[in-house]
Amino acid sequence: MNDMNKKEHVVIMGAGPAGLATGHELTVSGVRVSVIERNDFVGGLCNTNVHNGYKFDLGGHRWFTKNEDLNNWFRRLMGEEIVWVERISRIYYDGGYYTYPINILNVIKNAGFFTIIQAGITYLLSALQYSIFNKSINNMKDAYVAQFGSKLYDMFFRRYSEKVWGLPCEKLSADWVSQRSAGLSIWTVIQESLLKTKSDNESLIEEFMYPRDGYVRIPERMAEDIVKGDPRNSVQLESTVTAIKYNGPHDFDVTYTDTEGNETTVNATSVVSTIPLGVLPRILTPAPEQEVIDAARSLEFRDLITVNVILNKEQVSIDTWLYVQDEDILFGRLHEPKNWSKAMVPDQSTTSLVLECFCTKGDHIWQLSDEEVGRRCVQDLANKLGFIEVDDVIDFQCVRTLQAYPVYDLEYGGKIARINEYLAGFEGLHIVGRGGTHRYNNADHSIEMGLLLGRKILGYDVDYMDVNTESEYHEIKSSRDPQRDYYKVEEEA
Ligand SMILES: Cc1cc2nc3c(=O)[nH]c(=O)nc-3n(C[C@H](O)[C@H](O)[C@H](O)COP(=O)(O)OP(=O)(O)OC[C@H]3O[C@@H](n4cnc5c(N)ncnc54)[C@H](O)[C@@H]3O)c2cc1C
Repeated sequence: MNDMNKKEHVVIMGAGPAGLATGHELTVSGVRVSVIERNDFVGGLCNTNVHNGYKFDLGGHRWFTKNEDLNNWFRRLMGEEIVWVERISRIYYDGGYYTYPINILNVIKNAGFFTIIQAGITYLLSALQYSIFNKSINNMKDAYVAQFGSKLYDMFFRRYSEKVWGLPCEKLSADWVSQRSAGLSIWTVIQESLLKTKSDNESLIEEFMYPRDGYVRIPERMAEDIVKGDPRNSVQLESTVTAIKYNGPHDFDVTYTDTEGNETTVNATSVVSTIPLGVLPRILTPAPEQEVIDAARSLEFRDLITVNVILNKEQVSIDTWLYVQDEDILFGRLHEPKNWSKAMVPDQSTTSLVLECFCTKGDHIWQLSDEEVGRRCVQDLANKLGFIEVDDVIDFQCVRTLQAYPVYDLEYGGKIARINEYLAGFEGLHIVGRGGTHRYNNADHSIEMGLLLGRKILGYDVDYMDVNTESEYHEIKSSRDPQRDYYKVEEEA
């Protein structure tokens, strides 16, 4: 350990994957870290809820990254706990089931030849408009139509996107599409469907790794290593950061409040923030100008109610995920935890489901009581999808989660730039993670960003903000994928 490491004390706000990954990387190099977390559990959105012995992720979370170095890091972290899951995802649309990713043969089978002709014509029209006549892409709708044509957009992207975001696609930024499906061309879909081409270099992924006892085991494993790694380290739960005072470069006072209202202030040489980017400027001193506060206030999130259902039935479906487009069904996606790992249910003659209801705090869905949300979801499962009989339900539980999805409205980029300009004046303050940077990260992105930020704090020249900006579709594995091998444990480096 060098002298710099001995003096450093990094305070990390939030024990989700991003914060814990930063702490993990710093712990490996002997830097003291204190992680301060509002919840009474680690993991943030990667929590796994346990109810009567049944384990429920907050919506099915798979481990997937195109970065093999990160996969190796993951294997070292999780060891024997990893199971492999075969992925079978479907879209429920107007009474039919379509495979996802979209398969052209399957669309023909379900929707008929006429639909595929319509899809082909509208695709050619949009190729003409966007590629030949350079029509500009101004929002999410334009981005999808440019990529797939208006028919496929309408069938597979419009309704689901509007259910997730609660806004018409015209009011959402095209950035979301470029982050999630840039590089996924209609030709890849056709090639996959017709030729079933799967070389070692390039294929849509059909298998993924998963922690046997639920996704929360990933953050839990990182937290275990942080606490074990150095007696000075801590992961403090039920502690909400309420104020950060900047005394000068690498000199901060961070104040947090416990559930009894007691305040504690700790000094830090660096501060890592994974708390929402819209909140951070409002608890910082010196305070920003009103313009920054306004930008911060207007960064929005979509919230989530998950309904965890326990069923007296061996299996409901074969799906890993089922995406439900229809607006008259309350939930937008479901998964059956047992299909991911048998350890998710205590009794193999029974099963469970997690149903995701996208909403915004205060809207008509959020205002329903837990009893009402659960009852409506069970009825939709029984009467509309025909998956269960109402009598199969042994029990259900609702979990309400705020700030689940950072919303990319049409102005979000400018707001983030204005906030970041202000934050640049705080030497030693770093933002990272999904809410922390207001970026639509998957857990692997947040972990990769966190690990790289750890390296940056250690003095390495790395650009952790580069993560999750690749231009290639994130579900295509390719030999050209970035290799960011900065975060191996020292002995293996
Ligand atoms: C329904 C759903 C399904 C998903 N599926 C997948 C998937 O299949 N694969 C995948 O890789 N990713 C998936 N994700 C995304 C994944 O959950 C996130 O990318 C990941 O959890 C982000 O980690 P983070 O640390 O950046 O943020 P978070 O998990 O949000 O962690 C931030 C932490 O900060 C804490 N915090 C906030 N404010 C304060 C404060 N003032 N003081 C102290 N602590 C504070 C929060 O309590 C939280 O614990 C899914 C997300 C959702 C909602």
